[in-house]
Amino acid sequence: MTNPESLVFRGGTVLTMDKTHTILDGADVLVVGDSIAAVGVGLDVPPGTREIDAGGGIVMPGMIDTHRHMWQTAMRGYGADWTLTQYFVWYYLEHGRKFRPQDVAAGNRLAALESLESGVTTVVDWSHGLQSVDHAQAAVDALLAVPGRYVLAYGNIQAGPWEWSADPAVRAFLERYRDGEGSLNGVQMAFDVTGDPAFPEKAAFEVARDLGLSVTTHAGVWGATGDDSIRQMYDGGFMQPDTVYVHAASLSADSYHRIAATGGSISVATESEQSAGQGYPPTWQVRRHGIPVSLSMDTSVWWSGDLFSAMRTTLGADRSREHFEAHLKGETITHAALRAEHVVEWATRGGAHALGRDDLGSLEVGKKADVVLLRNDDSTVSFPVLNPYGHVAFQAQRADVHTVVVNGSVVKSDGKLVGVDLASARREIEDTVGYLRGELGEQAWSAGMYPDQAATERLENPYQYTDFKSDTTTRAREEEFREQLEQG
Ligand SMILES: [Zn+2]
Repeated sequence: MTNPESLVFRGGTVLTMDKTHTILDGADVLVVGDSIAAVGVGLDVPPGTREIDAGGGIVMPGMIDTHRHMWQTAMRGYGADWTLTQYFVWYYLEHGRKFRPQDVAAGNRLAALESLESGVTTVVDWSHGLQSVDHAQAAVDALLAVPGRYVLAYGNIQAGPWEWSADPAVRAFLERYRDGEGSLNGVQMAFDVTGDPAFPEKAAFEVARDLGLSVTTHAGVWGATGDDSIRQMYDGGFMQPDTVYVHAASLSADSYHRIAATGGSISVATESEQSAGQGYPPTWQVRRHGIPVSLSMDTSVWWSGDLFSAMRTTLGADRSREHFEAHLKGETITHAALRAEHVVEWATRGGAHALGRDDLGSLEVGKKADVVLLRNDDSTVSFPVLNPYGHVAFQAQRADVHTVVVNGSVVKSDGKLVGVDLASARREIEDTVGYLRGELGEQAWSAGMYPDQAATERLENPYQYTDFKSDTTTRAREEEFREQLEQG
């Protein structure tokens, strides 16, 4: 008989992500009820405890995504070639308007499943397509039907935040779900501050303050929100320790100082910033300001829905910029400032900090049991595991997520989600895609997916007719061209 109350991961490399980032080799993690009961080598466990072999694998905390527009997962991959410009047109003016409550639900449900499957156990659903409370209810119902932890960040891009937040029905909805229920771990308010000198968003901040809700905002987005937005928030006293600044890319040092001084955190969505144009992924700057960082995927309409991609691209973008800045000064970086360990921290503890959840983000006694085992015996990249942080950040993939536990319950086992009706999730999505496609018409649908391509300037190549077969000729011509170049 197994004891439904307890399970133990046996003999893994345990990344505790505790304050000092303790790593334990060949260690166990015991879960009793919804919490972590013990971490260590050769643990004694209650009779009937379910045993999960973690040998050769890595046991780590469930990952936390602090900004994902889950509703948009219904159109996965559609915007692969977009910039922010196309995104704004299609989501604010076209697709976004068309989403019915059931379409928001279909996107949310699939996004929740794909998160769980990749070991992301907590997601902030940055739900800015809530045109009505019916849409919001559909979003919440979809999340409640799936295990995991979700925070609904309530937003509505079809109206000003000062408008929708003044609606008594919205306010009642926020109050109802403020303290959470089931897999819904509470609500936030999600809106952007444009920098309009009249600062109309002030009213929405006041609603958040009245209701005791955190605000998450796209800050430092090139052409949309910037330093003026930060100044207005600062002057209004709306920059709080629980405020999450998404992207925070196109900002000056002054804005970073204000964020650091008021204790907020930044949600970096590197895949998004690299491709859409919010600004350069900011970790290379914000780490000099000591601002806490969490990671996010933003939207599956373009990018991946797993945090392995986020960790990888964030390391790459940070290091790339560090080298680039040094080379401009004729210098060489010999030691990287950002380590794999740091991005694993941002994907776990960093997210917990951003959400004010001291009970998540690490494997320590008394914390909530959100646990991920990476182990894939069939994978050629599963061994050797020498640098476990490096393994997580650069080697691991979604398919290596062997077991996922949320709040003490196994939701993925032996590489497969448990008790999930993927066929019905697929049918819901197909219905939504069919509906949106029909509403827009084939021409608009196709034009939206394949925006016009910008022309690439072709440079004149001075070596076009060089005879590479003959060394002497080539060398002579190189000399000739060099002279020409020097003479302009
Ligand atoms: Zn976003």
